[in-house]
Amino acid sequence: MATLTFDSLNPATGEVVGTHPKQDATAVREAVGRAEEAAAWWTALGPAGRRRRLLDYKAVLAGRLRELAALVHQETGKPVGDAALELVLTITHLDWAARNADKVLRRRRVRTGMIGVNLEATLEYLPLGVVGVIGPWNYPVFTPMGSIAYALAAGNAVVFKPSELTPGVGVRLAELFAESVPERPVFQAVTGLGETGAALAADPRVRKIAFTGSTATAKRVMAACAQNLTPIVAECGGKDAFIVDADADVRAAADACLWGALSNAGQTCVGVERVYVVDAVYEPFMRELSERVASVKAGQDYGPITMPGQLDIIRRHIDDAVKSGRAVTGGPGSVRAPYVDPVIVEDVPEDSPAVREETFGPTITVRRTRDAREALELANASAYGLAGTVFSRNTRRARELARLMRSGMTAINSVISFAGVPSLPFGGVGDSGFGRIHGADGLREFARPKAVARQR
Ligand code: NAP
Repeated sequence: MATLTFDSLNPATGEVVGTHPKQDATAVREAVGRAEEAAAWWTALGPAGRRRRLLDYKAVLAGRLRELAALVHQETGKPVGDAALELVLTITHLDWAARNADKVLRRRRVRTGMIGVNLEATLEYLPLGVVGVIGPWNYPVFTPMGSIAYALAAGNAVVFKPSELTPGVGVRLAELFAESVPERPVFQAVTGLGETGAALAADPRVRKIAFTGSTATAKRVMAACAQNLTPIVAECGGKDAFIVDADADVRAAADACLWGALSNAGQTCVGVERVYVVDAVYEPFMRELSERVASVKAGQDYGPITMPGQLDIIRRHIDDAVKSGRAVTGGPGSVRAPYVDPVIVEDVPEDSPAVREETFGPTITVRRTRDAREALELANASAYGLAGTVFSRNTRRARELARLMRSGMTAINSVISFAGVPSLPFGGVGDSGFGRIHGADGLREFARPKAVARQR
């Protein structure tokens, strides 16, 4: 029987980029079977052997940076420079995970804390076996590799299901891994639509699922995982808030806000979507922001909307926002499929879809607040809680606001892309998901603690 296939398309031109098999549940089961054997071999290689191979892989990726960036550009439509940056950040994470895995996970003695009992205890973090990684399309290399690199470094084999929109680059990542590790299929990619990922989540031999995607899909994946009590780390959507306090540097804040809202055409889980500005600096901030936005154009400064269905959501949010609020820049005419020009709307009610739901486009809502406390309350009223930003020259207040913001990560006086920082845990709260990738927490996420105690 002929294998069913699907095409990946360039969202800017509609051209076919590649054709890939729709791998069914049988194909996924076979991949998991191969991964189980490979996992035993990879574990036995030990930390030093794995580190060497992962650093080899890093060199391979660096050598293929142009090729991979071109493929990301074709499959997502994002500018080649942005795609290359994604590769650079991926390499940074791979390097960190490879070099730190042994230090974070190796066996160590632990004081038991028991009084009157003479126990000698050790704790180490052992590999899980096979890890299933299900990834999105918006950062098709960087996002899944934020799990894959750490899962591999912790001694696991990986079966990766890339998004149906970006299968080519997912497959290429696995092919290039085989150049550094030809002995066993330690890292495989399986392609297909949602059912391919569903088969991966349903396989009881998969010891953990690292899911990155929408909150709605995360719930479906969790339901499948629940059948086998397979644990999951869920990196989901966001609706990041950006607070501008009374003593903020409004020019720096406007620069950061613009970058946070428009990078990757707003198709970023940690994209700035809600802006709360304290009354005292509202006018100067809006003046600075409007000036900057006027010089930006979709298709020139950033790429198209990758997923055709997303345009409908963006259009709906813009229509709703301009009806209930006041457009500062753009409006319904800003949607020129597949591009969307920047849209800023003031005074949109907090219960409207444009404020409540993830837009995933270059649009922001802005609201004037009495003070920083009110800004924080509104920021925290979201169901999402991925990242956020506070601009204030008052370091003490900025730290306090950042600590109280209901998010996994908060940046002060910059929209630091936490995703690019290898040593810090990345993840959210509420509808933004749970569990952590990156850093020491990210390594432990793909390992199981093993305690051993000996009576002396
Ligand atoms: P999505 O539609 O939820 O899809 C994510 C992945 O899940 C895709 O590979 C998809 O395959 C697969 N999938 C769909 N149904 C499935 C099922 N029933 N079982 C198993 N897998 C299934 O998300 P997306 O549109 O690709 O990505 C955008 C979303 O990801 C946004 O919400 C964004 O905020 C979020 N995101 C979060 C982070 C983070 O770190 N928090 C990072 C990047 C993106 P198909 O493509 O074949 O449907």
